[in-house]
Amino acid sequence: MPNQEKLSPAQTHKLYVKKFGGTSVGSIERIEVLAEQIAAAHRAGIRQVIVLSAMAGETNRLIALGGQIDPHGNAREMDMLISTGEQISIALMAMALQKRGVKAVSLTGDQVQIHTNSQFGRASIERVDTDYLESLLASDIIPVVAGFQGRNPHGDVTTLGRGGSDTTAVALAVALSADECQIYTDVCGVFTTDPNLEPAARRLSCISFTTMYEMARLGAKVLHPDSVAYAERFKVPLRVLSSFESGEGTLICVDEACHISGNVVGIAVSRDLAMVSFEDADKSTEPLGKLFQQLSVLGVETDLLSKTQTDSSSVSFTVSEAWLEQVLLELDGLSQTVNLGSVFYERDLVRISLVASGSLAKTDVAAKVFDVLGKLGIHVKLISTSEIKLALVIPQKYLQMAVCALHHAFGLNEL
Ligand code: ADP
Ligand code: ASP
Ligand code: MG
Repeated sequence: MPNQEKLSPAQTHKLYVKKFGGTSVGSIERIEVLAEQIAAAHRAGIRQVIVLSAMAGETNRLIALGGQIDPHGNAREMDMLISTGEQISIALMAMALQKRGVKAVSLTGDQVQIHTNSQFGRASIERVDTDYLESLLASDIIPVVAGFQGRNPHGDVTTLGRGGSDTTAVALAVALSADECQIYTDVCGVFTTDPNLEPAARRLSCISFTTMYEMARLGAKVLHPDSVAYAERFKVPLRVLSSFESGEGTLICVDEACHISGNVVGIAVSRDLAMVSFEDADKSTEPLGKLFQQLSVLGVETDLLSKTQTDSSSVSFTVSEAWLEQVLLELDGLSQTVNLGSVFYERDLVRISLVASGSLAKTDVAAKVFDVLGKLGIHVKLISTSEIKLALVIPQKYLQMAVCALHHAFGLNEL
């Protein structure tokens, strides 16, 4: 966090929504350190709304706790359970600020009036009432808000999906017309790829909303994709910074000109995937419609779907490993009425996505990818392209080797 005791007069009276993630509030010591910095900024005249995640590991612990009662527990009750992690963080932070003589009050999503739809576990924010927050700010009181949670029209607690505190912060920044929404985390910005995977990854000083959204959607969990979409839609400046060291971080901006159009800017990774293939000997498309309709009803997200037809017809797609069993059950059901041929599946796969700023030169990029991975003896299972990305699936054991080689080959070490 920048040293906020030495702010210029122009920086004072600004309103920042600052969100701190799980590692940033992972211990009492960390909460005390952050409270000291928030208090210093407050004394320097900065107006702040603080959004917190649960302490590191807490949400996983709560999910596991629920799973001990029922692995397919009721979604409403799961949200009631897992939303409690954030309440611990906000109460501790409010106490730490009050101890420093700074007025602060902890607030749940319901108390703030963060209105969502009723999709438990993956709710979308529909509206935020700002009256209460504004009255607190006017009284020089720092609101410390629980991220990740809201209330549906019936008053039930809802959660926004894993990593959803980012979206809470952006929604508050939009509603309050904040000068900037700042996402403090355990790395010092958005990098060309996950710096915990590739030590040569470079911090990007800026990245466009479009590229960032694609990176986030494809697995770069430094920002939740919904938060990026929300910030772009309402044009709120969004910045990713480290809560452990000072620096400018990365500004997510409208301007595509921050990178040369068409160049690969980042590599996103999504782990724990499985690939399912079958022959579809009937060559008829209708049963496939039924299969995917059923998967959609179950909420199973499939990706990199391919269907090729020569003498026989073959269908492949990827799915999160957590859904594999369910998908195989559905295929088993379908095979009672349709001749699917043999069904194959493979676990322990990863998807690596090269994301470009602007239109990707697909053929050139594919040529380089096949060349680089071919030389390493890495066999690509599936590949797909879209306007700004090329995604490929390989065995998880080659992840680091492949990412480092591609990072180097596309010149990302020098960005
Ligand atoms: P928080 O708990 O603060 O919300 P997250 O774990 O959700 O933090 O996100 C931060 C993590 O995102 C980093 O520790 C890093 O491993 C990962 N990450 C993945 N891709 C990127 C990227 N391109 N740039 C920066 N971090 C990334
Ligand atoms: N605590 C929630 C999670 O672990 C939300 C968040 O951290 O943003 O997913
Ligand atoms: Mg996060």
